Amino acid sequence: MALLVQKFGGTSVGSVDRIKAVANKISTNKDEGNDLVIVVSAMGQTTDELSVLARKISKSPPQREMDMLLATGEQVSIALLSMALNELGTPAISMTGSQVGIVTESAHGRARILEVKTDRILNKLNDGKVVVVAGFQGTSVSSGGTSEITTLGRGGSDTTAVALATALNADACEIYTDVPGVLTTDPRKVKSAKLMSHLSCDEMLELASLGAAVLHPRAVELARNYGINLKVLSSWDDSPGTELTSKKRKAIGREGLELGRPVDGVELVENQAVIALSHIPDKPGIAAQLFENLSEGNINVDLIIQSTHEGNSNDITFTINRKNLVKATSLCKSILKEMGGVFKSQDNMTKISISGAGIMGRPGIAAKLFDSLYRSGINLRLIATSEVKVSCVIDSSEGSKAIKAISNSFKLNNEQIAINPIISGFGEPAVRGVALDPDQSQISVRKIPDLPGIASSICSILSDSCICLDTIVQSERQYKNGERDISFTLKTSEKISAKKTLAPLMAKWPGSYLEDGPSINRISAVGSGMPAIAGTAAKMFRALADANINIVMIATSEIRTSCVVSEDDGLKGLNAVHKYFQLDK
Ligand code: ADP
Ligand code: ASP
Ligand code: MG
Repeated sequence: MALLVQKFGGTSVGSVDRIKAVANKISTNKDEGNDLVIVVSAMGQTTDELSVLARKISKSPPQREMDMLLATGEQVSIALLSMALNELGTPAISMTGSQVGIVTESAHGRARILEVKTDRILNKLNDGKVVVVAGFQGTSVSSGGTSEITTLGRGGSDTTAVALATALNADACEIYTDVPGVLTTDPRKVKSAKLMSHLSCDEMLELASLGAAVLHPRAVELARNYGINLKVLSSWDDSPGTELTSKKRKAIGREGLELGRPVDGVELVENQAVIALSHIPDKPGIAAQLFENLSEGNINVDLIIQSTHEGNSNDITFTINRKNLVKATSLCKSILKEMGGVFKSQDNMTKISISGAGIMGRPGIAAKLFDSLYRSGINLRLIATSEVKVSCVIDSSEGSKAIKAISNSFKLNNEQIAINPIISGFGEPAVRGVALDPDQSQISVRKIPDLPGIASSICSILSDSCICLDTIVQSERQYKNGERDISFTLKTSEKISAKKTLAPLMAKWPGSYLEDGPSINRISAVGSGMPAIAGTAAKMFRALADANINIVMIATSEIRTSCVVSEDDGLKGLNAVHKYFQLDK
């Protein structure tokens, strides 16, 4: 007998027939002797329909009233499912988030869960009942002491389920949905997407934040941080689904369930060299040719960044182990001879990274990292961001100072500090899945002074307005007085408020200005084996070049490579990359 938390999404409970089918499945499971806590979403498109209704009344409805409205969707489905179960002779009781005691922050529309009370659920389970809980909602105590209904953010029922599994110490959390599990990419975008039997929580976190909306990223964060046994399965049949692997089970700390320290490690990698190629032609195939040559020369490239620029030429910057610098230099120089461009390199560099879960989803973290380095007077040569890691390349003489600053700001102990760790990912696939994020826009902040603390001030001001940046890229090229550009991508819905937020900062830097980039799509490849297998990025660039797609921006992190392309090229590019890595096989 096991204690299981099972979650059924909107499509799975989208009609009376589907609710009855789900009830049958649950009833069979209960008869097998399991204790069951069920989480459900609102039926079908209910949440969207409620939002449309609200917008017909008000352009900017109060967030509190939006939560009041949206939370009703889940209340309908828990009641109906509970009725269906009782009808089958399986005793069941429904509960809202407040009835359970899912206590959240007060931030309406995006509240994080602080605590899940378990006594009421456990009492009902002891009575032999199936407990049906409303997903996506919780309760917070307002400053006046009254309780308020909150919601967790769209797709948040997955997070409710994993939070319940964590608090109840359940044997497993099963997410039932309208696809057979986690696939190599979104089957709505690529017909030949294939089921993965397993992947790590880190891989899933990257994919989920890069557009694979099959799981709410915060649900994966919780599973990773607390070592929850998490599965994604089909609501329609008994196929085996996908298992997410994480580390050992961990007890809940005092910080609040979802607020547990998001940064759990700092890593220093010495003996790095940076190569910067600027003024190279901006046309399809250049990145592919360059990195194929390096890969044929057995040079494993670590971080790669291609920034946006004025005019029709590109800058590409990347890092390698410094033992390969001489060979890489001669390879690059002979390529530049053919296609033109300027070569620069810097030896004696160090990469410093923080790791954790949901890093870029919490805008304050990157800001805090940059700020702590800035306060120690450390200049950032390169920045690479992702959901599980943020890396900065700095001068090697600053390494120990950087470690000290970071472990102080993030309160890390000695065991969480790794110096020159061995490369991870041997035996794992270089690319396990690919994702398309169509919802992205790009903004460039041009001609800003090249001083320490710039990245930090931009990130801090945006983070204070709760705006998450995705990719942050500092330009290689400098203007006459040393000024640089910084470009970043963010959710299109946050672009207007980002521009408003940045305006006062720009006013402080005479000559600087904001530039709206084109509408973009981001295509990303994710795999734990990426650090161990040379040439993965080159393959991705080749796939796009063969499809005649120009890459606007490149940003990599340890287990992911992302390429920003024009909006029109997104779907074609995703299909090309999926096929090139033979994920359809
Ligand atoms: P639910 O209502 O059950 O929560 P969602 O619509 O939130 O379901 O998530 C399931 C959908 O996620 C699928 O229908 C699929 O189109 C989409 N999806 C995106 N990327 C992936 C992926 N890599 N694997 C599986 N599904 C994906
Ligand atoms: N019903 C909510 C939504 O549509 C929560 C969820 O389905 O996970 O976003
Ligand atoms: Mg969902």
